[in-house]
Order: sequence, then structure tokens, then C-alpha cells
Amino acid sequence: KLNGKLAVISGSTSGIGKSIAHTLATEGARVIINGRSQESVDRTLAELQLGDQAVGIPADLSTAEGCDSLIQQAAKIAPIDILINNAGIFEPCPFEEISDADWQRFFNINVMSGIRLSRAVTQTMKERGWGRIIFIASESAINIPVEMIHYGMTKTAQLSVSRGLAKSLAGSGVTVNSVLPGPTWSEGVQDFVKELAGDRDIEAFKENFFSESRPGSLIARFGQTEEVAAMVAFLCSEIAATTTGAAMRCEGGLVDT
Ligand code: NAD
Repeated sequence: KLNGKLAVISGSTSGIGKSIAHTLATEGARVIINGRSQESVDRTLAELQLGDQAVGIPADLSTAEGCDSLIQQAAKIAPIDILINNAGIFEPCPFEEISDADWQRFFNINVMSGIRLSRAVTQTMKERGWGRIIFIASESAINIPVEMIHYGMTKTAQLSVSRGLAKSLAGSGVTVNSVLPGPTWSEGVQDFVKELAGDRDIEAFKENFFSESRPGSLIARFGQTEEVAAMVAFLCSEIAATTTGAAMRCEGGLVDT
């Protein structure tokens, strides 16, 4: 049980982040809901119905100011015990068409936000002798998607930061881990799938998606956001105290490494 722990979940106004917030709150944690706009944060708070257990803090995490602001405001409530680096973007683009600005934009949101947020919480976690930092990376960290190499790069970079940080925090009571989901039926992925499907029927597209583009998937269906959240809840728990520097997969058994 996470009673009394304060958890900051970046990008928790939809998809996997929202499920993580819900699951950690169910385990007794107080959760900080973050998204880019006040409107998205308010809508999520209304949807989750967590009362005093949830506080909304809008902040654009593509900037250093946004990351600082999220941590400063959250730390006013209580010391941060748990940080979930979840905010992220994905969109397909052929390699030749990915501009310098796109590489930078993906790096800023998917990697730098996690680095900045983590850097801002480690000192307090070390002093208190307890902490959990979790990066929501992706199976794409290992199985780089050819249709979005820039996204794959950011997810591999997250694994690198996660593992390095785990080493640097060894023995402090603070664990650092990554979770690697496969295709998961979040709001972001639903939009993505609609775009990929184009004129085709969505249900038929979904059915063919795994056999056509992911042969070898042992579990050939989209994951549920709650399934990712359950793995995160385990990593946050006391019983996960010896799990650190790990890359935990929930990708349907695709990756053969
Ligand atoms: P989503 O689009 O449903 O949610 C993304 C969240 O990130 C939203 O709450 C959005 O507001 C937030 N966000 C984006 N840019 C932000 C910014 N600049 N500042 C603050 N918040 C910002 O997507 P999702 O599928 O739930 O993805 C969440 C994470 O899981 C991402 O890091 C993604 O790479 C990872 N992931 C998703 C899948 C999948 O199939 N859904 C698979 C593997 C990994």
C-alpha cells in the first residue's frame, strides 16, 4: 500500500498516465495530475473523482521552466516520493523528413522532461532514504520502429538514463526502473491508429494490425492502459525494493532479445 506517498505523474491527463494516476490512488497514494493545459487537468480531475487525493498542476514539460514549475508546486504539498516520467509524444515520419527541429522536439519532451524532473527530486529522495522513479519507455526502445526512428531514439535514451540513474542512486533507498509497453489502447494511440487506418474500417484495421505489422507477437492485441499501470504500481511498492535498473516489459512478447 502506498498510503500517504506523494506521486507526480507527468502527462497524466490521458492514456497510460491517467491510468497510472488512478491505480496509484487506488493503492492509497496522493497523485499529482499533470497536462499541458488547465482545461485538460480539470477535465481529468472531474473524470477520476479522487477528491483530495488528487491535485492538478498544468505545466508544459517541453521547457525547463515547465518542469521546474511542476516540481516546485508539487513539493509545496509534500515531499515527492514517487516520480513517473510518462509524458511523451509519438507520430510517424519517414527518416528523410524528420527535421532537426523534430529530433529536438522529440528529445525535449520524451527525454529531457524525464531528466529535468528526476534531477529535481533525487536530492530530497536520497535525504529521506526512500524514492521511486519510473520511466515509461517503450518496446520501441529495443525494437526501433522504422516509421518513427526519432521516437525509438528517445525511448532508447530513456533506458540509458534510467539505468545510469539507478546505478548512481544505489544503496540510497531510491529505485529507478523503466517500463516498456507495447501497443497500448490509450487516447494517443487511438488517434494514431485512426490516422494509420485512413479510409479503412478501424475494427478491421485493429484485427489485422498484429498479423500484418507485428508477426511474432505472442499476445496479439493492444494492451490496456491498466495493465501498464499495474506494473508501475508493483515497482512503486515496498516489495519491489530490490528491483532497480530494470527494464520491465509488457509488450505482448514481441521482443526476442
Ligand atoms: P497519450 O497521448 O494518450 O498521453 C500522453 C500524455 O502526455 C498526455 O497526457 C499529454 O498531455 C502528455 N504530454 C505530451 N506532451 C506534453 C508536454 N509538453 N507537457 C506536458 N504533458 C505532455 O499517450 P500514451 O499512449 O498514454 O503515452 C504515454 C507514454 O507511454 C508516452 O511516453 C509513450 O511514449 C509511452 N508508450 C505508449 C505506448 C502506447 O502504445 N500507447 C507504447 C509504449 C510506450
